[in-house]
Amino acid sequence: MNKIAVLTSGGDAPGMNAAIRAVVRTGIAKGWEVYGVQQGYEGLMNGHMDQMGQRAVGGIVQQGGTILGSARALEFKTVEGRQKALAELKKREIDGLVVIGGNGSQTGANALYEMGFPVVGIASTIDNDLYGSEMTIGVDTALNIALEAIDRLKITASSHKRAFLLEVMGRDCGYLALMAGIAGGAEYISIPELPNEPEDIAKELHAAYERGKKHSIIVVAEGAKYNANALIQYFKEHKAELGFELRATILGHIQRGGAPTAFDRILATRLGGAATAALAGGEYGVLVGLNKGTITTTPLSVVVANKKSLDLGLIELHDELNN
Ligand code: ATP
Repeated sequence: MNKIAVLTSGGDAPGMNAAIRAVVRTGIAKGWEVYGVQQGYEGLMNGHMDQMGQRAVGGIVQQGGTILGSARALEFKTVEGRQKALAELKKREIDGLVVIGGNGSQTGANALYEMGFPVVGIASTIDNDLYGSEMTIGVDTALNIALEAIDRLKITASSHKRAFLLEVMGRDCGYLALMAGIAGGAEYISIPELPNEPEDIAKELHAAYERGKKHSIIVVAEGAKYNANALIQYFKEHKAELGFELRATILGHIQRGGAPTAFDRILATRLGGAATAALAGGEYGVLVGLNKGTITTTPLSVVVANKKSLDLGLIELHDELNN
């Protein structure tokens, strides 16, 4: 192996820059040339890539987002799109690729690998919905941002005897909502994995007031059966009988924008180093991830064929704590 390329794809996640830095510097330490691809698979198909030196990745370890940019590239889902990308890689004699991203991005990485190109994936998405890594890059930062929001909302909720609803990201996965709710001491957590009705939430909040609680915080995952807007509508219609108001905050992209936590920087750095080590060792078509405290590799074919499960025992723990 002499030349490799690195790209970030899908939703940006805090810590992606630390991963890029680690791939570039550990790649150069192995005597390789490293190319940075702009805008994910879109840039790969259009040949937008430049060689990166050690200094090109200076001062980025503490920055959220991705200096390479990211994009959603529908054309890459087609064989023709991927052939275009392979032609661009061949033109520059690049013989290895590192893909930093989540589920969709690793599905693309696997498709490219199956066409014969040496690819290694790095587990990175704030949703934590990627099989093959217990924690993915960006999750810890996003979780801490959600937690800070809960802490702040609790102060104002206590002062005004109001119920506050916080909607957090996570696509179809309830990980962020569940963990933020537990860490923030929320009264109710609503996640896609355990669908519930607005009546259940109202009943729970009512019971909490009767137990003498001064505030109520509901954390809702964006992919829950009823999202923030649907719940607001229900509470508006039933305000008289419920006896309290519901205010909603949708965190949205604020959750992505933070400076990466120490955990995310270290995870990203370890995964970046592991990705170039895998390429150097001829271990292709794998995802590098974190499992039981160690860095592991899992075949991309296994990663894309499996769904990560959520520890629903934590909901029971939350129910016991919330009394
Ligand atoms: P996140 O979950 O954090 O948003 P992601 O990697 O899951 O990240 P997606 O938008 O699902 O984000 O995918 C990113 C890109 O990966 C797509 O725009 C597309 O270029 C590529 N991709 C997704 N699915 C496939 C597929 N089935 N085959 C080939 N490429 C794919």
